[in-house]
Parts: sequence; structure tokens; C-alpha cells
Amino acid sequence: MSIPTADPAAGQAVKAADRAHVFHSWSAQALIDPLAVAGAEGSYFWDYEGNRYLDFSSQLVNTNIGHQHPKVVAAIQEQAGKLCTMAPGFAVEARSEAARLIAERTPGDLDKIFFTNGGAEAVENAVRMARLHTGRQKVLSTYRSYHGATANAIALTGDPRRWPSETGTSGVVHFWGPHLYRSAFHAETEEQERERALAHLEQVIAFEGPQTVAAIILETVVGTAGILVPPAGYLAGVREICDRYGIVFILDEVMAGFGRTGEWFAADHWGVTPDLLTFAKGVNSGYVPLGGVAINAEIAATFAERPFPGGLTYSGHPLACASAVATINAMAEEGIVANAKLIGETVLGPGLRELAERHPSVGEVRGLGVFWALDLVRDRATREPLVPYNAAGAANAPMAELAAACKKRGVWPFTNMNRFHVVPPCTVTAEEARAGLAALDEALTVVDAHVAG
Ligand code: PLP
Repeated sequence: MSIPTADPAAGQAVKAADRAHVFHSWSAQALIDPLAVAGAEGSYFWDYEGNRYLDFSSQLVNTNIGHQHPKVVAAIQEQAGKLCTMAPGFAVEARSEAARLIAERTPGDLDKIFFTNGGAEAVENAVRMARLHTGRQKVLSTYRSYHGATANAIALTGDPRRWPSETGTSGVVHFWGPHLYRSAFHAETEEQERERALAHLEQVIAFEGPQTVAAIILETVVGTAGILVPPAGYLAGVREICDRYGIVFILDEVMAGFGRTGEWFAADHWGVTPDLLTFAKGVNSGYVPLGGVAINAEIAATFAERPFPGGLTYSGHPLACASAVATINAMAEEGIVANAKLIGETVLGPGLRELAERHPSVGEVRGLGVFWALDLVRDRATREPLVPYNAAGAANAPMAELAAACKKRGVWPFTNMNRFHVVPPCTVTAEEARAGLAALDEALTVVDAHVAG
């Protein structure tokens, strides 16, 4: 891959306009220094100074198919030449085909697809469907989760960093999901963690009143809040509880879906079928904003004679749907989901475990596919996180140093609280993954210096 000749003056102009007029999300405007990006291809992107970065973040964990996949770019161009926009009420080839391809891959009878413009909007609509379907109001979600930044989605999110700006919405109840390394239940084995987490959920439902609970929403594998892989049997246990109480089971696969875990959907690892499944990101790698809800037959039937009150002007946008069709077809033709699985099993998993042996700052390695996290600690014995939750400024220095050390070595990192997430595209090659791990190996020596003793 040859990157264009450096053009620092062009980069400075882009940056100056950005600083003058762009108000960035999730940021203190005066404290950020956004990189001016000139282009991208495959697992890499580059700036105007001639620096190339291996994208170990997949941006916001969405470019599952890598940057600028030629088949997807061509499909967007072709669709733009044919039909750029058409309101959601019309049947459009790209939309019908995208829905068919998604429904073919979602588990069980999740055969109707409601399109949105992204993940949070998918969560909003899944919750609305569950409430209308059951006639109940409450929705249960876990601490250590991220469901998006719109009103209900942010209230459902179980992450203290996200709440200060919102007072929440009514009807949201948080509970503890399983996470053995930082167990809320003092469990010592996966089995204990599973059993105690399920018993806890039952207790929360009993106290809230099962007749008031519309839905339970879970990330199948928790993403932003730590790459938490559920113990075997946990999701089946939640499914059983939902069935017993007539509660709608929503799996949020906005981050975990479309290949990230080495299966089309993370639910496939455990053979569990939810009633509603939310998706976005990997469905078209974010080339054009798209998300949606896959709906089972029973909930779809609720809205057979009665209108579903939801949808936006751009729902199921033809350019977005055409890019989803091309993405899904390319993923199938090129074995991209299988690649994610193989890289996880043969390079990232073993490589990260090896790093953990050498670096005292690594408390735990967890993940699957191209979806991994290092839980960084000050002290392995106490598991004290390397930086406190909600750390900012000086308190967050070790994580900022780690991120800077990676960038210096040409690897773009994804960090969150005390965690380093390793989330390259599903198309990443073994050679690229090894190069990223080698850079991370060097960078981790910076944080080892903060380890107690
Ligand atoms: N749900 C999950 C599991 C996510 O990871 C995210 C975003 O990271 C969202 C929902 C929100 O998606 P979006 O940012 O597209 O609204």
C-alpha cells in the first residue's frame, strides 16, 4: 500500500477549520487535539504528515470490513447513480435486499428488519416495541454496559462515565451481569458467577414486580464497558427467565454483531435467540450510517394490524442499505467472519496471553474473535484498576501514556477507563495483528512502571 505524499499544509488547514467550527462528541472542546486524517485503506489510515497507523480500534469498533473496501465503495457509487434517496414507506431494491440478507443471518425467527440510522436509535425502537408489545414499562439493563447516547439508550447504559449529563428516564432498572474477574457476587468460578448472577436477576425482577417489566436488554458480549464474555449457560438462563415472566429479551449486538466475535452474531456462540436484536456498526462498517432491529414473529405480529409508531425520514436509506448488501456479500465471499475467528484463536488470544505473562500491569486478558481487552491493574493481587473509574487529567496519566506510546509506534489504540481494547477489523491479517501486538508489547513497559511494588 502506498500512501500519498505528505502535505502538512493541507492537514493544518483541515485542523484549523475543525478547531474553529466542529464541536466534537464526548469531548472537552479545549482539551482535544484531533488528528487530521488524509485517507485510509484496509487496516490502516494515515495523516497529512506521512504517518500511517494500524487501526487497532476499527474507529469506534465499526470498520469490521476494513477501510475503503472496493466492493462497498463501488456499491455506494452505483446506488448513488441509480437512486440516492427514497422515503421509508417505499419498497426499494437495496432496502429489501439488505433486510433479506440480514434476516437470513440473524438467529431463529428474527426475520423482520426495522432500519435505523445507528445503534442508539435501534435501542430506542427495540425498547418501544417491547413496551407496546407487553403493555409494561420497565426495562432492565446491566451495570457495565453501553447502549448509546440518546435519551433511553443513555439511561439504560450502565457506565458511570456516561451519566453526569443526564438524570435518566423513568422505568430503567440496573442489575449486575456476570463478570468473574470483578465479581459483584464474590464468586470464584464461572459456574458460581453464572448461578449467582441469575439468582440476583430473579431477585431484582421479583422486587420490581414481573408484571411491570417489559424487557431485559443485554449486550451479548459487553463491548465498550470491558469485553465481558458471559459464562456458558448465562444467556440461556436469562432466556428462560424472560420466557417464564413474559419479558421481552433484547440482545444488543450493535458492537458484537456482524463478525466481530468470529460468528455472524455473538448469540451464535451460545445458540440463544432473543426476541429482538439490535445491530449497527459492522452491518456496513459505518460507510454510511445504518442500524436496525431484527424482530421475531410474535412481536412483528403485534404490529400487523396496529401501526408501529416510530421511524425517521432517513430510515433504511438506500445508500446505507446498498453498502450493507455489498458488505454482507463481501464478508460471505471472502470468509471475513472465519478470519476474525482464526485471528482470535491463533494470534490475538495467544499473543495477548503471552503479553500478560511478561507485563505485571496486565491483570486479565479476555475476549474472542477480534474483540479483546486487557484489564490493566496497579496490583495483580488486589486487582486495583490501573486508573480509577472516571479518571480524568493527571489521574488518567498512565492510560494516556499507553495510548501515546502506541501511536508513536504506529498503532491506533482504543482505551476505556483502565482497559486497553484490541479491536482491529475482522479483515486484519496475521502479520498485521502480530505487528500490532509487538508495538503493544513495547508500549506496555510504560505502564508497568506504575505497578505497585
Ligand atoms: N449499543 C452498543 C452495544 C454499542 O456499542 C453502541 C455504540 O458503541 C451503541 C449501542 C450506540 O450506537 P451508536 O453510537 O451507533 O448510536
